[in-house]
Amino acid sequence: MGSAALGEAVKTIREWTMNEGRQTGTPAKVQDLFGALVFNDKMQQTRLPRAVYKALRSTVTHATSLDSSTADAVASALKDWAIEHGASHYTHWFQPMTGITAEKHDSFYSPTADGQSMAAFSGKELVIGEPDASSFPSGGMRSTFEARGYTAWDPTSPPWLHVNGPSVTLVIPTAFVSWTGEALDKKTPLLRSMEALSTQTVRALKLFGSTARRATATCGPEQEYFLIDRNFYFARPDLINAGRTLFGARPPKGQELEDQYFGSIPDRVLACMSEVEAELYKVGVPVKTRHNEVAPSQYEIAPIFESANVATDHQMMTMETLRRVAPKFGLACLMHEKPFAGLNGSGKHLNWSIGDDLGNNLLNPGETPHENMQFLFFCVAVVRAVDKWQGLLRQSIASAGNDHRLGANEAPPAILSVFLGDMLTDIFEQIDAGAARRTKHGGTLDIGVSSLPKLPRDAGDRNRTSPFAFTGNKFEFRAVSSNQNVAFPATCLNIAVADSLDAMTAELEGMLSKGQPLEEAVAALLKKLIKQHKRVIFNGNGYSDAWQKEAGKRGLLNLRNTVDALPELVKPDVIKVFEKFKILTERELRARYEVDLETYSKTINVEAQLMVLMANRYVLPAGLEYQTQVGQSVAAAKAGGVPSVEGKKLLGRIVKLIDAFRTQTDKLATALEHSNSSAEAHAKYMRDAVVPQMSKLRELGDQIEVLTPHQIWPLPTYREMLFIK
Ligand code: ADP
Ligand code: MG
Repeated sequence: MGSAALGEAVKTIREWTMNEGRQTGTPAKVQDLFGALVFNDKMQQTRLPRAVYKALRSTVTHATSLDSSTADAVASALKDWAIEHGASHYTHWFQPMTGITAEKHDSFYSPTADGQSMAAFSGKELVIGEPDASSFPSGGMRSTFEARGYTAWDPTSPPWLHVNGPSVTLVIPTAFVSWTGEALDKKTPLLRSMEALSTQTVRALKLFGSTARRATATCGPEQEYFLIDRNFYFARPDLINAGRTLFGARPPKGQELEDQYFGSIPDRVLACMSEVEAELYKVGVPVKTRHNEVAPSQYEIAPIFESANVATDHQMMTMETLRRVAPKFGLACLMHEKPFAGLNGSGKHLNWSIGDDLGNNLLNPGETPHENMQFLFFCVAVVRAVDKWQGLLRQSIASAGNDHRLGANEAPPAILSVFLGDMLTDIFEQIDAGAARRTKHGGTLDIGVSSLPKLPRDAGDRNRTSPFAFTGNKFEFRAVSSNQNVAFPATCLNIAVADSLDAMTAELEGMLSKGQPLEEAVAALLKKLIKQHKRVIFNGNGYSDAWQKEAGKRGLLNLRNTVDALPELVKPDVIKVFEKFKILTERELRARYEVDLETYSKTINVEAQLMVLMANRYVLPAGLEYQTQVGQSVAAAKAGGVPSVEGKKLLGRIVKLIDAFRTQTDKLATALEHSNSSAEAHAKYMRDAVVPQMSKLRELGDQIEVLTPHQIWPLPTYREMLFIK
């Protein structure tokens, strides 16, 4: 019963406030916590023989493979370190195509002949694991008889200890591939795309006179999430099984007063956040920012950026930690893209840039004309990437959950465009208008813009409606969803920009070989590219209908839902670019397409089944009970000789509503009895025949909710879930 959950929630909050909430003490210092459970560079330096340490670092910085004697030495030191910290097991941690993480634990210990036990951990066990791959989605890439899959340590992401009460496990971040070398996870393509981006970046930088030898995609993903009292969560089958509410009338007060964003954080929530942060510090996740988000009970956590693969691992750890710690405070963490209809959903802004091994952020506008020129080159590369690879980028963020958010007038539209801000747009316009003539300024040749002013990075220059925004020294891919692994959007961005850099550098190399001066060649190239790709630049209101029309005129893609967006992954151009950079083969891409389609259909299927279940077991019985009560009251009035006209009207209304609800429930149930020959046809069917029936059922169910008395209504309401904290 809703009221029972309410009673429990109130009790939990009161007890927390009186007990844990009143505790005082000296908090642990961040510098003592940070990285305490990570076998990081410093730990490696202390615990590894010097030669081994140097070999390992060289593997990390030059992305070479680890030889077996180094691997054995690292494994042995790692095992001793882990066991000293109480570890009994190790696990190869990986990120299969399910979008979450997977792990299988093995003990360090095995029995010896004399009945004792001995800890052992070889280099091979560190570097390669062999989990049974058959139960992970592979999109038909392997049948169960060849189910073997391998996990391979990614030495650029350091191992850490997962401590859960008395159980301590050494976690080794890995990539997951099939026995034939096909990627079965999200990490492998990411690592490969980082290589491609590094190669192309270094090649481009060389033309600008740089001696950089490697470059890294950097990411800082901001996570939005909801925290609600766990008693409410347990009383909602939809939250437990679908992650979002499938029924639920809007509360009288939602987010319209705008009194939540950056507001003060409730005590219990703050305590939970602090513990999440402390846990993350220990495993080396550099979390930095926390605040209230726009919707009631919505929050955000953001880290300091790191190289894309480490940021991805850390992001997955952040999600897991949020989920794990929240219950300790009587809370449930919801990371679905749209847990509550009518309120803002959650995204995960993926901040992205490129850094070189000399410590430069290549999207940082420079101070000198030469630096400006290089900055503009990289900036234009990104603009070209987003324009040319709109479909791929849109695909990389498509999911049943994100369909509720994108284009819903509270999140970026499904159309990919780039926000550059006024100043940078002005510079682009100058170049486009032909100002890129050769002019001398103080002895240096520039490319038409005398020098770039420092671009403002304050919040005022923000455009919340853009799916892809330049924010001073990085781009922010804002259409990414709260619930997804950032590896694939990052992979696609890396590839798209690598492709730009490849094409632009080739062209520039050609021009330079003909003796054209660098400045002139760059100016001409940028001018041409800006002309070609400026249609993707949009600084206005992305939520407006006018933009939908304008984007159509500009020829930008508008893939409104997942089923429309997914086929982009297997478009000939996409296959070509993935193969060119050796990221994924056509077969691997088709497999991923299949997995994505199935995930979509399965998600809708689970939600629809749950709706039918909740309709029959919660909404309908509650409605019928109220109908009986009103019927009895009408009958009593009639028997008393004062027939109630309004009572009869109410009864009529309830009966009609419940009938319609019952009919609609059957319709949805019938719609689900369906099978399709292909995954594509099935996904389309789910979108066109099932999703609309779900919306209709919800509408009727929500009407019943607002009529039904509190004592009878069996589900926690929006008002309770969102405002009692
Ligand atoms: P803002 O004011 O734009 O929010 P912040 O510096 O607070 O700027 O950054 C927001 C997010 O962007 C953080 O997660 C941060 O780590 C990330 N970020 C900052 N610089 C970079 C970069 N060069 N590459 C990737 N992410 C970055
Ligand atoms: Mg942001």
